Amino acid sequence: MGHDRYDAVVVGAGPAGSAAAMSMAQNNLSVALIERGEQPGSKNMFGGSLSRKPTAEAIPEFWKEAPLERAIVNEELWLMDKTSAVKVGFTGLEFNKSPYNKFSVIRSKFDPWFADQAVKAGAQLMTSTLVEELVYEKTGLLNKKVAGVELDSGEIIHADVVLLAEGASAALTQEAGLREEIKPSSLFLYVKEELGLPAEKIESRFNLEPGEGANIGMLGYPGSGIIGKGGIWTNQESISVVVGGYLNQIINKGVSPYQLLSRFKEHSLISRLLAGAEPIAYKAHTIPKGGYNEIPQLYGDGVLVAGDAAMMVTGRRGADLAILTGLYAAEVIAQARAAQDYSAEILKGYEKRIMNSFFMENIKEHKDRKEYYQNYSDSDFLLTKAANDAAYRFFKVGLQSKKDKMKTIRKDLFNMQPTDKLVSDLYHGLKNWGDF
Ligand SMILES: Cc1cc2nc3c(=O)[nH]c(=O)nc-3n(C[C@H](O)[C@H](O)[C@H](O)COP(=O)(O)OP(=O)(O)OC[C@H]3O[C@@H](n4cnc5c(N)ncnc54)[C@H](O)[C@@H]3O)c2cc1C
Repeated sequence: MGHDRYDAVVVGAGPAGSAAAMSMAQNNLSVALIERGEQPGSKNMFGGSLSRKPTAEAIPEFWKEAPLERAIVNEELWLMDKTSAVKVGFTGLEFNKSPYNKFSVIRSKFDPWFADQAVKAGAQLMTSTLVEELVYEKTGLLNKKVAGVELDSGEIIHADVVLLAEGASAALTQEAGLREEIKPSSLFLYVKEELGLPAEKIESRFNLEPGEGANIGMLGYPGSGIIGKGGIWTNQESISVVVGGYLNQIINKGVSPYQLLSRFKEHSLISRLLAGAEPIAYKAHTIPKGGYNEIPQLYGDGVLVAGDAAMMVTGRRGADLAILTGLYAAEVIAQARAAQDYSAEILKGYEKRIMNSFFMENIKEHKDRKEYYQNYSDSDFLLTKAANDAAYRFFKVGLQSKKDKMKTIRKDLFNMQPTDKLVSDLYHGLKNWGDF
């Protein structure tokens, strides 16, 4: 282990922590990057795809070295019913050319590499080390500032500033009084299985060339009646299968995460994509879904919060926003060091940076989404069912004119539920479904 005093301590070596630690070390700050897992990524998983452009803000041309799986060229959303799916999507072969768009990534491979870039820049990485609590020092009669952390070994590490990049559960952020306890209704619980399959099989099954990847998002029937999503990502030699939703609904319905996954995989349109694939790993993880209204206080005296701990998630984006917020935090910490002042007044610049960001615009735009799902908890299922029923009738060949057929489709749609509820469901559904 290193010394017991650093300019900055970063808690958590996920994308937010590693990006911040790397950037601060590049700015000649002494940095300790502390991770409770045996190695970065060992506690982590995501779907998932990593967006190129935000990641390149941290490491330009990272794709030349980073352990990535496939360049995503095909994105689809399936609205699913019991034996059918309405599919929308886009295939862009340009996305398999430098500088690319997104990559499928396995976090247990990517996170150690990313943390290693921070180490190469000069940060000190400590693994298998849990930060138990924050350490404060008095700065006046009534005031105090965060001045370090206490580890599970009892050791204290002093620092001018602590960056909390501790992920969704954010226990230290709560302990610092920067946010309230997170409610199950503000968390999505996801389960994931990685299933091994030879590259050629993946490519023929998903209509890909070597190096190209696909991501299919799935809504509706296979989700066991829980508001959430499922998804499939192709890796080099494996497929990631992910499903989950609001934690409070999972608890209320008494479904175990394992059941959720099994039911999802059993759907006949999904099982054929997975046929013959061998289980490699199984993990569960949460995503903070409190949205704009539950963003914590992002700074305090001697402390900042980044990534999932700061609720920086929008749609399917989280890892890249973690990287960006980590970089912003590092930038403001460098300014604080130049001013030799780590008070909230200086660190407030971080909040300003985030509030003016493009992603905050997205987060703000969807600030009512949680409420929407509370009020319309059956909406995803009704909308996916309606889409499938309509498509079924549309594609089914009959002895009707096209005009009569459309009339029947409209009539059946309006018979599904009272007209005002249908109109209201559709209106709110379309408004809230912005990003898939
Ligand atoms: C199923 C699923 C699918 C997703 N899909 C995508 C996707 O396709 N694209 C995308 O961009 N994002 C996706 N996300 C979101 C993305 O994974 C997160 O937004 C991202 O990981 C947040 O990064 P972070 O660094 O803030 O936190 P994390 O990645 O959670 O890292 C936090 C780290 O802190 C460590 N830690 C916590 N507490 C302590 C402590 N007290 N002491 C020491 N270490 C500690 C943890 O072990 C962990 O390594 C997905 C998430 C899930 C769950």
